Amino acid sequence: MIDLHAHSSASDGTQSPAEVVASAAAAGLDVVALTDHDTTSGWDEAAAAALSTGTALVRGTEISCHSGAVSVHLLSYLHDPAAPGLLAELDRSRGSRLRRARSMVERIGADLPLTWDDVLEQVDGEATVGRPHLADALVAKGLARDRGHAFATVLSTRSPYFVGHSAPDAVEAVRLVRAAGGVPVFAHPRAVLRGRVVADAVVEEMADAGLVGLEAHHRDHDATAVRELEDLAAALGLVVTGSSDYHGAGKENRLGERSTSPAALEAIESLGTLEVVRS
Ligand code: AMP
Ligand code: FE
Ligand code: FE
Ligand code: ZN
Repeated sequence: MIDLHAHSSASDGTQSPAEVVASAAAAGLDVVALTDHDTTSGWDEAAAAALSTGTALVRGTEISCHSGAVSVHLLSYLHDPAAPGLLAELDRSRGSRLRRARSMVERIGADLPLTWDDVLEQVDGEATVGRPHLADALVAKGLARDRGHAFATVLSTRSPYFVGHSAPDAVEAVRLVRAAGGVPVFAHPRAVLRGRVVADAVVEEMADAGLVGLEAHHRDHDATAVRELEDLAAALGLVVTGSSDYHGAGKENRLGERSTSPAALEAIESLGTLEVVRS
C-alpha cells in the first residue's frame, strides 16, 4: 500500500512528521510521502521515524502555484532541497503566505474577536502558514465549529475576508522541480469543489515542461474525473498516482484511502535525485 500525499505540522497537518509516519505504519502502509505545503522542514524528522518503522518514506513537497487565476498544487518528490531555484520560490511563497494570513486576520479582526496572537498559537514553529491555522484559531475562540465550518464561512474564497497569496506559475514550477532533480506530479487536478480547475491544454503544457504524473485517485475527484484523468495521463504518457491528502485530525481524509501502484512509484523513484528512505 503506497500513499503519496500527506501533511504534518510542518504545514497544515495536525500531527508531527514523526507521528504521521507512525500513523502510516499503524495503518499498514508500506510507503508514505510527506508533502507539506511549500516546505521540506519536516523531512529529517520523518526520515528518522521511517528508519525505525516498517514504513518507507518518500520526501516531497506540495508546491502552491497558479495558472492565470486558477490555483494549482504541484507535488514534487525526491528533489534536492538545497537546489537554489526551487528553494527561492518556496521561500517567496512562504513569505507571501505569512503576509496574506496577517491581512486576512486584520480584515476578520475588524468584525470578530480574532488576533494575530490567536493564530500564532496554532502554528508550530516555522510551519508554512495557511488558512487551516486561521481556522484552528477561529475554533479555539469559539467562532467556528471545526475547520470545515470555518472554510465554509469566514475563510471561503468568496468571503470578504479572503486574500490570495503569490505563487509561481505552474509550468515554471514544473521546470524548477525538474531542475532540482525532483519528480513533479499534478495534485488533485480536478478538485472542482476547491475552486476553478485548469483546462487540459494547461496540463499538456506542463507535460511538455517535464510533468511526470497526475494524481487521479483523490477523494476530491468523482468517478468521471478519475476516468478522464486516467485517459489524459495515457494520452500524454504520464504516470497515474493515488493518495489520501491526509491532514491528521484537520480533515476527514484517512491514510491509505487512495493508493499508488508499485510500478508508478518505481517510475517516480527512478527519476528522482533522492532515494526513498527504507529501514
Ligand atoms: P491555503 O493554502 O492557505 O489557501 O489553504 C488551503 C488549505 O486548506 C488546503 O491545502 C487544505 O489542506 C485546507 N482545506 C481546504 N478546505 C478545507 C476544509 N473544508 N476543511 C479543512 N481543510 C481544508
Ligand atoms: Fe493543506
Ligand atoms: Fe493540495
Ligand atoms: Zn495536500
